[in-house]
Amino acid sequence: MKKFVVVLFILLVLVGCTETNVLKGTMADKRLGAALLAKKPFEIEKNEPDYNTAGINPETGLYIVDNETSMLVYVNKYRELPEGYTPPDLTEPDVLHYSPVGDNRRLLRKEASEALVSLFEAAETDGLTLVAVSGYRSYERQQAIYASNVASKGQAHADQFSAKPGTSEHQTGLAMDVTVQGNDDVLLSQSFGETEAGQYIKENAYQYGFIIRYPEGKETITGYSYEPWHLRYVGKDVATEIYLNEWTLEEYFGFDYPGRER
Ligand SMILES: [Zn+2]
Repeated sequence: MKKFVVVLFILLVLVGCTETNVLKGTMADKRLGAALLAKKPFEIEKNEPDYNTAGINPETGLYIVDNETSMLVYVNKYRELPEGYTPPDLTEPDVLHYSPVGDNRRLLRKEASEALVSLFEAAETDGLTLVAVSGYRSYERQQAIYASNVASKGQAHADQFSAKPGTSEHQTGLAMDVTVQGNDDVLLSQSFGETEAGQYIKENAYQYGFIIRYPEGKETITGYSYEPWHLRYVGKDVATEIYLNEWTLEEYFGFDYPGRER
């Protein structure tokens, strides 16, 4: 209870700061400030909102999400997809792919797939040829990757660099790792973020409904290293709000993230 009161106080102070800034800011700032205030994080604490969970998995100790088919499904190191979940409407976006024909990694859910095509087309008109590297990954495939990492590098290493089965965004069918054509040096490398293509994605992906899911400087919040190549589809409205506020999905939802005291 004491902890709750402290959290409440801090949040009130934060909201207070926001209000001051709103008074000084531009119209755009006011809208953002209003959006922040509308979120009322302290009420979220108090009212115990729908966290979109179906309870805790006794085997893993993680929340099991119950809105796995939503474009806003939220998984991280605290939250997992139901065991064996396969997304509906997986489809292959008509873009350049790194993986061979017929490979599941080419797939995304339909809405995300169409958005990816639009993003890649826009980049192309700016002279940047993007390539889809790795999208959908099945529960079983993630299980195999994780088990192999635990066996070869140990549990701690595996937990830091790979996702437990059920907690990978790639299993949602809403995430795609991307790169730029003709520069394999930056493939799935943080240096991709410094390329023209990496910068283009960082500044424009939100217009097509994508966010950089694991941004630089937010590692303690997301629980993952900086991944400038990992795009997550959330739809244009939420992507825009996250982009303008420089948030992560964790900060957008405001609960269940590794860097947050519980
Ligand atoms: Zn990824």
